[in-house]
Amino acid sequence: MLEGVQRCMLLRVGSAYRTTSTVALQVITGVIPIDLVVEDHRYLHEMGNGQELAIRKAAREKTLNLWQRRWELNEEKGQWTKRLLSDLNHGLGISENAFCVYCGEEDSPEQTMLYCHRWAPYRIASYGELDFQLTAETLVAHMIEDKRQGNTIGNMIRKIIRKEKERRAREN
Ligand SMILES: [Zn+2]
Repeated sequence: MLEGVQRCMLLRVGSAYRTTSTVALQVITGVIPIDLVVEDHRYLHEMGNGQELAIRKAAREKTLNLWQRRWELNEEKGQWTKRLLSDLNHGLGISENAFCVYCGEEDSPEQTMLYCHRWAPYRIASYGELDFQLTAETLVAHMIEDKRQGNTIGNMIRKIIRKEKERRAREN
């Protein structure tokens, strides 16, 4: 139930992802799963409602650790990557066996996010803040393992998707 409510909120945040799975949405938006937020509040309550900054910090760290452990245990990272990429297919409106209108290469989320010259300025802006080589394999892992880099990548993805949607709207 809670997950459903959060999914609604997330969908309002990122309308590009209407068909997107909850897990991938959480990765893209960097939003902590709602049950972990509940856990966070319960911990704060037990500790006297978290009046002290140190307690709030400890609670948040505990939550992020739980999120990371879930990430490490529950599903193969490759599966998450696959799911995210297929969600991006929807977000970017990429159809199978299509070619990119900008570079002529076979269209795919990887081509758009990692290689196409059209989006190089967006990537360069993000690479400046990333301390690893962005590939399909590292993308999802870093999004969830490092909050700051996750936000940077998420912002880049959202910007590119927004631009692509604008172009498609103009064409239709
Ligand atoms: Zn291209």
